[in-house]
Amino acid sequence: MPKKTAAAKSEEVTIDGIFGPGGLLAKRHPGYEFRASQLEMARIAEEAFAKHQHVLIEAGTGTGKTLAYLIPAIRSGRRVVVSTATKSLQEQLFQKDVPFLQKHFAPNLKAALMKGRANFLCRHKVHQMEGQPVLKGIDEIDWFAQIRDWEKLTETGDRSELTFLPDDADLWNRMDARSDLCSGQKCPEFQNCFITAMHQRAQEADLIIVNHHLFFADLAIRQDDFGSILPEYSAVVFDEAHEIEDVASDYFGRQLSSYRFEELARDTENLLRVLQIEAAPLRRHLARLRERARSFFERFPEREGRYPFGPAERNAFVDQNREAYDELAAAVKRIETELSALTPKPEEVVSVARRASEMRRELAFLIESEEKSHVYWYERRGRGIFLAATPIDVSEILRERLFEQFDTVVLTSATLAVAGRFDYLKQRLGVLPAAESVLPQEFDYPTQAILYIPRALPDVRNPSFGASAAAEITRLLEISQGRAFCLFTSNAQMRDLHERVSRLVKFPLLLQGTAPRSVLLDRFRTTPHAVLFATASFWQGVDVPGAQLSCVIVDRLPFAVPSDPVVAARVRVLQEDGRNPFAEYQVPEAVLALKQGFGRLIRSKTDRGVLAILDNRIQRMQYGKIFIESLPAYATTQDLAEVARFMAQPEK
Ligand code: SF4
Repeated sequence: MPKKTAAAKSEEVTIDGIFGPGGLLAKRHPGYEFRASQLEMARIAEEAFAKHQHVLIEAGTGTGKTLAYLIPAIRSGRRVVVSTATKSLQEQLFQKDVPFLQKHFAPNLKAALMKGRANFLCRHKVHQMEGQPVLKGIDEIDWFAQIRDWEKLTETGDRSELTFLPDDADLWNRMDARSDLCSGQKCPEFQNCFITAMHQRAQEADLIIVNHHLFFADLAIRQDDFGSILPEYSAVVFDEAHEIEDVASDYFGRQLSSYRFEELARDTENLLRVLQIEAAPLRRHLARLRERARSFFERFPEREGRYPFGPAERNAFVDQNREAYDELAAAVKRIETELSALTPKPEEVVSVARRASEMRRELAFLIESEEKSHVYWYERRGRGIFLAATPIDVSEILRERLFEQFDTVVLTSATLAVAGRFDYLKQRLGVLPAAESVLPQEFDYPTQAILYIPRALPDVRNPSFGASAAAEITRLLEISQGRAFCLFTSNAQMRDLHERVSRLVKFPLLLQGTAPRSVLLDRFRTTPHAVLFATASFWQGVDVPGAQLSCVIVDRLPFAVPSDPVVAARVRVLQEDGRNPFAEYQVPEAVLALKQGFGRLIRSKTDRGVLAILDNRIQRMQYGKIFIESLPAYATTQDLAEVARFMAQPEK
């Protein structure tokens, strides 16, 4: 069992003595402001750790929820894993909050940051690549020299330290520490390996900070007795817990993309070059593998998007393309055989042969499996085809693997409850009996934000909607002087309205897809009066405090696309159970998405602005009430003049 932490609870100081008015936080944190909901959250979290119970806490933006779970976690004396939605949130916790806690509360606190292996450098590969003709072009030669120098200095080997290396640099793929080519304890660098060091730090840590992807990657392999990534721990905190169903679905499902075949061929060729193995027949078979993979995957329809690929579709597909499928499976098998026949056979070669064997089994599962618990689909995205099998319902899996295995799971986010209740999330995630709390909002929403629902717009499904919505967006942008996010539920709608609005306003317009996400966000922050047109990926995890973001416009209620194979399968299963999928799944899902999207606007007590929803079903339809009841208590209007008056008020 995990050891007792060095940061165990001090008997003299109560949680109120830390978070309360005039408490330790106020004394030690310049500019700290007492927040009643933060104190309440810290009390609830402390009780959950003490009583070994699960808890769901909805805590709005501005609550200060990070300290409200971190301090109780370290006072619990247990080894706690904290899982966040993104790597940047992880780094924020590790680089900002942990040092603060070590300085003021728990000098002996040991914390470890864990990320997926592809984030770290493989020392063995660097040494193998030295002096080998494996670099392509001037850029790679320059980057390689810098990485080699950095490898001698860095303590972590974490790619995030390499600010000069572009996100899409292919060089990194050939140098990272993915398990595919790792020989583990047989590697001469094992003792110095950055992955070994990361695991050692985690073994000694009281607090382990991971992201949801790593957490569920670990949970999924624990079930198969393939060992584990994380050391033993006794409790988990999920921040941004509304995201875990999607991430868990990915890790408990199976996926295989066309890129994986290219990667297998590329990694094998690199390996042969680095190990200076001739193996002419194997090289010929690698060329054949590429050819067979291309031939197989080009048989999928050209249209972009996700489509069902269940037994009926797969059987029809295989009937027409039996030869291409068999040839691909045989080509992978051949690589496996050729690799296994090499002598001598270094550990890296065994590892690639194992990978070929896993890919062959994955391909067979994705094309032939009849398991009814999964929904099968494919997606064409750019040049890639992704085959996948996703569990239709992860609640059973999570109940068994997570909630029954660990007695304390803290789930928190600004968006967990629907109309004040947690029923939806509990049912989707299989949460066992848990304490529950929706904390009061810290912001004064009625004076900080006005929700505008235009009276006269046509229904979103009406062909005249685009022109009317463009006019409405234009009027809103004039009032807010740009400084707006226009968030859409589909790419087509985003592009259409961007095109229309660009003819009507003079503000600088930014469009998702024209530059990487981080570049667009930087431009938005630094360009006066900018307006960003974006879809799903900007609905969450984006933080633009201050007047630069003064308006958030949402085109329609964000219902998941009903034809999406995963959504359709989940709807069907609920129907078959005699339940009402619209009320129990589609509406709550959309409510949480809308709360997230609108949550972009008010990020601090001084932020003000307008929220607009151009979809009048929120007022016309019975279910609209659930959306309204779930949102914070914004001032609400249907009158644009009132929006203008609100925005003209001087800041308080
Ligand atoms: S142990 Fe694996 S990841 Fe680490 S240096 Fe060796 S091959 Fe690379």
